[in-house]
Amino acid sequence: MQTLRTLKALEREGLVTADPRLAEAARSMAIALTPELAELIDRKDLARDPIARQFVPDIRETEVAPEERDDPIGDEVRSPVKGIVHRYPDRVLLKPLHVCPVYCRFCFRREKVGPGGDALSATELAAALAYIRDHAEIWEVILTGGDPLMMAPRRLGQLIDALDGIPHVTVIRVHTRVPIADAGRVTDELVTALKPKRAGLWVGIHCNHARELSPPARAALARLADAGFPLLSQTVLLAGINDDVETLCALMRALVSARVKPYYLHHPDLVRGTGHFRVPIARGQALMKALRGRLSGLAQPTYVLDVPGGHGKVPVGPAYLGDDPDALVSDARIVEDAFGGRHRYPA
Ligand SMILES: *Cc1c(COP(=O)(O)O)cnc(C)c1O
Ligand code: SF4
Repeated sequence: MQTLRTLKALEREGLVTADPRLAEAARSMAIALTPELAELIDRKDLARDPIARQFVPDIRETEVAPEERDDPIGDEVRSPVKGIVHRYPDRVLLKPLHVCPVYCRFCFRREKVGPGGDALSATELAAALAYIRDHAEIWEVILTGGDPLMMAPRRLGQLIDALDGIPHVTVIRVHTRVPIADAGRVTDELVTALKPKRAGLWVGIHCNHARELSPPARAALARLADAGFPLLSQTVLLAGINDDVETLCALMRALVSARVKPYYLHHPDLVRGTGHFRVPIARGQALMKALRGRLSGLAQPTYVLDVPGGHGKVPVGPAYLGDDPDALVSDARIVEDAFGGRHRYPA
């Protein structure tokens, strides 16, 4: 089986049934589902399968709510040169390309990713690198896109070398779904290309369900961890896919056992046509509380929201410390423990 890239191909595999509204949904974003993820789908319960729902188009994508946006997290307003997003003083995103091994229907860059999306030309990449070189406050460069591990190892190696050659760039972070979606790409050649001589390189893995951590995915993560790269995860909280305690616990545990430190649990962004994936913030907070009571500290992600308009990410709770309504001393606080018990604590 090859990567499934059209509705017809998904139909042939029995993953969708023809429907004109589905064609409209499919037009709004590229399709890609790799064989290794397709094999993990439970065909007996397609409508609820956590892998199928992430990658197979859904007619609900044609429903666009008024609060949804083309540029949900305001990348555009923070882009000083093509391919760079500079929202925080000490770090930038560098987006060398727009292709991914799979296309997630809830993608926060839904309007940008896909084949034919514009990768940076050699001149544009040189301009982006010049911007980084000219801004000594940039301590970290985050390679994202698109998926930087879709680059040929030789080109990726050149890019890592170029960044490594900028003395103030101390950390390089790579955001990827490749180890999960197309583990075979994580070859020794790729791992060698990724290794900077001087800077610290961290790898952020996008993973939303424990089932994605198949034996090949775990082997690819092990190759990265054995090479000495610290691994982090980013999970998007998705309705019906991972918004229950058991699923999140299983995912966070599976990540830690694969030597991936859970980093962020992202509240889903206001992306066009993705209302069916969104979860109320109160639900995310309740889930985080449940994780706190059950899971090792190693397995706790931070629940974050990216403030629309380019204002950046902030943790959105839950809160454990509150005011004491009947405090005798005015500054006493109430702290809630992980099991729901409430205790007075001097502020
Ligand atoms: C998410 C993001 C980062 C990284 O944020 P961290 O909190 O450091 O993980 C950096 N720049 C932009 C523009 C981002 O959207
Ligand atoms: S891998 Fe990331 S950038 Fe690519 S489609 Fe999925 S969410 Fe979007």
